Amino acid sequence: MFTIKNHLEIENSRLTIGGVDTSNLVNEYGSPIYVTNEQRIRDNFRRYKKAFPDADLFYAAKANGNLTILKILAEEGAGADVFSDGELYTALLAGIPRDKILFNGNSKSDRELLMAVQTGVRVSVDSFDELNTLSSIAKNEGKVVDIAFRVNPDVSPKTHPKISTGLKTSKFGIPHDEVVSAYKQALDKPGVNPVGIHCHIGSQILEVEPFVETVNKMMDLVEQISRLGVEFEFVDIGSGLGIPYEKNIEVPTPNDLADSIVPIFNERCKAEGINPKLVLEPGRYLVGDSAILLTSVNTMKNAAKKFVGIDAGFNTMIRPVMYDAYHHAVVANKADKNAEDTYTIVGPICETGDIMATDRELPEIEKGDVIAFLDVGGYGFSMSSQYNGRPRCAELLVNKGDVDIIRKAETYADLLANQEVPPRFL
Ligand SMILES: *Cc1c(COP(=O)(O)O)cnc(C)c1O
Repeated sequence: MFTIKNHLEIENSRLTIGGVDTSNLVNEYGSPIYVTNEQRIRDNFRRYKKAFPDADLFYAAKANGNLTILKILAEEGAGADVFSDGELYTALLAGIPRDKILFNGNSKSDRELLMAVQTGVRVSVDSFDELNTLSSIAKNEGKVVDIAFRVNPDVSPKTHPKISTGLKTSKFGIPHDEVVSAYKQALDKPGVNPVGIHCHIGSQILEVEPFVETVNKMMDLVEQISRLGVEFEFVDIGSGLGIPYEKNIEVPTPNDLADSIVPIFNERCKAEGINPKLVLEPGRYLVGDSAILLTSVNTMKNAAKKFVGIDAGFNTMIRPVMYDAYHHAVVANKADKNAEDTYTIVGPICETGDIMATDRELPEIEKGDVIAFLDVGGYGFSMSSQYNGRPRCAELLVNKGDVDIIRKAETYADLLANQEVPPRFL
């Protein structure tokens, strides 16, 4: 038995996760299937928390919204960053405390704002217009809601353009130079109580410098705004720490991040005589490497390339297509065999772009083999769809040799579940 990556091991040529043989999982539960290792999520959370013992960690629920996974993180003490009514609903159901939930979003509906007010969670306000709407909704309800403003800090995170969220041109947040005036307005409005400040510069960030720049810019604002009379309870700098999808890349760890920003944060708070809590919102780091996607080889084709046709396409995992993301592929039933050929692994979707992995050196692949894609726990299942009439697949949780189903596979009935046929077609 030996380890190929973190918690993934090879035993008798077969890939195992959480002490369970992946080929057996496919035989028993079918394919494609997401498999998450509970212990890995707990370890990731504890490592992050150890690096930031004084901070609150609000898990970004969009990375993986499975209820059981949220419950695992709730047990570990996580809060939640939610971006929709559905994520709020799930986070509350998972038992995440209301004062550790931040409702985020650049275009929240009035109904979502009302739900935030009624459930008593905190709101990250994204525009002046939203401030007015939230103030009148809270006033009507006879409530006062704790708010932060989402700041657009105008920082380049040096990551893929589709996951850069704090550039000046981004749709998120209030422009840096208008933030002070946003707090002035909030102080004068009923129903809203400014207690925090918030930003998030992007995702899959591989250097600490953008975070240092962000903390400095946020603390400049905190200083100015504190002097207006706002008592900050928290400063939320979002998240974005990358993970090593590719084997030989260097990524900063939570410790590296903490070493580079916590001293600045502490020093600047001390100089100003304030004592807000630092909040971070890790998503990908906590869940990304906890899950693998198991898929079966349907068919092989020798054409312009050696194509491996599998049963999961971008309906099941969209990251390769949406972000040009690399996910390491392992032939799960030949996991210790040497590479023999170069393969391009494609999904079953009727789109030319449905390519999961290009030109990979792998052991000889045949129909019936199982391909495992690693590091699919973040933005994997949560971005899946029913495109091409394919029900979504199941999710399993493994833990020290035990296996639980945490989501059943959908059926044809789910494809039709909310469709209605007008009587004239009956
Ligand atoms: C997506 C998102 C996160 C999580 O980002 P990761 O890169 O997955 O850690 C945190 N905060 C906000 C506001 C987000 O939109």
